[in-house]
Amino acid sequence: MTQIAFIGLGNMGAPMARNLLKHQQQVIVFDLVPAAVDALVKAGATRANSPQQAVATADVVITMLPTANHVKSLYLGDEGLLTNVPAHCLLIDCSTIDSGSAIEVGQQARKMGLAFIDAPVSGGVGGAAAGTLTFIMGGDTADVERARPILALMGANLFHAGALGAGQIAKVCNNMLLSVLMAGTSEALQLAIANGLDPKVMSDIMLQSSGCNWSLQKYNPCPGVMDNVPSSNDYNGGFMVKLMNKDLTLAMDTAAKVGAATPMASAAQALYRLHQAQQSGNGEKDFSSIFTLFAKH
Ligand code: NAD
Repeated sequence: MTQIAFIGLGNMGAPMARNLLKHQQQVIVFDLVPAAVDALVKAGATRANSPQQAVATADVVITMLPTANHVKSLYLGDEGLLTNVPAHCLLIDCSTIDSGSAIEVGQQARKMGLAFIDAPVSGGVGGAAAGTLTFIMGGDTADVERARPILALMGANLFHAGALGAGQIAKVCNNMLLSVLMAGTSEALQLAIANGLDPKVMSDIMLQSSGCNWSLQKYNPCPGVMDNVPSSNDYNGGFMVKLMNKDLTLAMDTAAKVGAATPMASAAQALYRLHQAQQSGNGEKDFSSIFTLFAKH
């Protein structure tokens, strides 16, 4: 049986690893937070006490970490995963990071005869829990094809965007658009509320009108409009504001490299940065809490 090492059991990694277990996969897990490991062990995973132990006999390694620094420090260096995995192992990084870092890790892996792809995801914690994520892969076709059956256990849509790093470029373009759509949806809902409208009724109207978008369909930012979304849980447990700010920095850097104009993303970046700076703790809230920035007091 394929042995899968899963490292990074946060808001996304934990439900993704759970889906592998639901499909009877053999999963060995590691996270810096012991409670995160305990929860997965309860669900049937095997505990590893270090990343090196997690990957020692793995056929596939999946990482789901916050930033490029986390990814590079885990994979590279004397104690890095690249020097500890079996030669046949397939390495899949699902974190959202800059394409340059993904290429750097992937090329280093290749030099050592190892297979690596970037495979960032879209779909949020709801998609991770439901096993309906979109995986956006970058890498050699043979490696991408090897990854497909494993990723299909956690996702509904699998795309091969192009060469190493292309998955990250596609993901950053998508999240740049998401940042704009979430801010715009929040602004529209707050305008309706300020004029005495019911946000649920307003949401229903926009869902059937030309303003319809993913934020309204799956992730309404107004508390109480939808069940089981972060806005109805005090903006906890989703995609943190600080991670959206990381992705907007990635988007602006990606645009600067090719001289692309991104005025909408610039505005969104200013808004999310202001929101994070306004109150301590905002960085850890779900990104749909940008809704509160537009409230009329
Ligand atoms: P998170 O902060 O909730 O989880 C990250 C986990 O990685 C934490 O449990 C942390 O302890 C662990 N970790 C960090 N360094 C580690 C190391 N060296 N070894 C082992 N574990 C380590 O973040 P998240 O929301 O799960 O996001 C993970 C990635 O997925 C990010 O790049 C994010 O941008 C991306 N993403 C998130 C969402 C979302 O809705 N949350 C959606 C799509 C993509």
